[in-house]
Amino acid sequence: MFQRGARFIFSRASSTAAAPAKNCNKKLYAGAASVVGASGAAAYMTQQRPDKTLCDDLTAGLTGAAAGMILGGLGGYYFTSSTLSPKVEKYEKYWPRKCMMLFGAPGAGKGTQGPRIVDELGIPQLSTGDMLRGAVAAGTPTGKKAKDVMARGELVSDDIVVGIIEERIKDPDCATGFILDGFPRNLEQAKALDAMLAKTGDTVSKVLAFEVDAQLLEERICGRWMDKASGRSYHVKFAPPKTMKLGPDGKPIAGTMKDDISGDALFQRPDDTAEALKKRLKEYEDKTVPILKYYGPRGVVKMINGGQDIKKVWSDVSTSLV
Ligand code: AMP
Repeated sequence: MFQRGARFIFSRASSTAAAPAKNCNKKLYAGAASVVGASGAAAYMTQQRPDKTLCDDLTAGLTGAAAGMILGGLGGYYFTSSTLSPKVEKYEKYWPRKCMMLFGAPGAGKGTQGPRIVDELGIPQLSTGDMLRGAVAAGTPTGKKAKDVMARGELVSDDIVVGIIEERIKDPDCATGFILDGFPRNLEQAKALDAMLAKTGDTVSKVLAFEVDAQLLEERICGRWMDKASGRSYHVKFAPPKTMKLGPDGKPIAGTMKDDISGDALFQRPDDTAEALKKRLKEYEDKTVPILKYYGPRGVVKMINGGQDIKKVWSDVSTSLV
């Protein structure tokens, strides 16, 4: 199954909000706990000895502060070790901030491999296509502008997508990194991305470029069915839903196309047609492919054969992550 798992569409994920922005945060937490412990203990000791001289108070206060520092520090270290370890370990392993990009034509496998990378690295996948579809479904002003352009398989304007990404990567769950899917789509967007990353001292750290034969792309795209809520994708030939039944014409009966897990009706994207695909592939060749030349000299591009068996693709992807 081309399972994409839950995507981070406009999400303001709170689960990772407490994650450390840098690996030094563990020390910061312990240090802060020490200071709080020390001040508390000092204040307590001096308050408890109102009959003593200033000198006695100072000695007692300093002793209390030292004890408070040790206890507070230990407590802070214990707290951070027990609650933040898995995230910290991942961050230390993959340091520095991962600004990763999935690159490839429609149907190349970005949406399939992305969620696996999300699981491995613990950073979100940011799909501009999903975000725009969310905006279209919600009928926002951005969605209204994008709807027809998207259905024709053309690119929406740079200012819209650049704005969406610039805001999204400020969210706490992007602190340790993020995976861009469908962005940038042209050189102007790539340059805008570089400029926005430079503001935080970051840079694109990896471009995973999936190569797939055009004929296979058409077969993948035109047979694709999606579950709206989860983003899970199916394929009439390669990954049919369990409920699928074929009609006399050999095509799937729409009413039998249901999500394996929720049972919700699946849908086909309006731009997943042979006609729109031609336009999307042309946009990809003309505008998106030149980005590879832009990033190539930086030594961050890794080519992946996306036409292989799905497990082999993942094996190549996972070895490219470190
Ligand atoms: P995708 O889901 O990545 O195939 O994107 C679906 C459609 O959303 C594209 O065909 C474009 O119309 C639009 N879109 C997504 N990302 C971008 C982008 N970075 N720049 C311009 N248009 C985009």
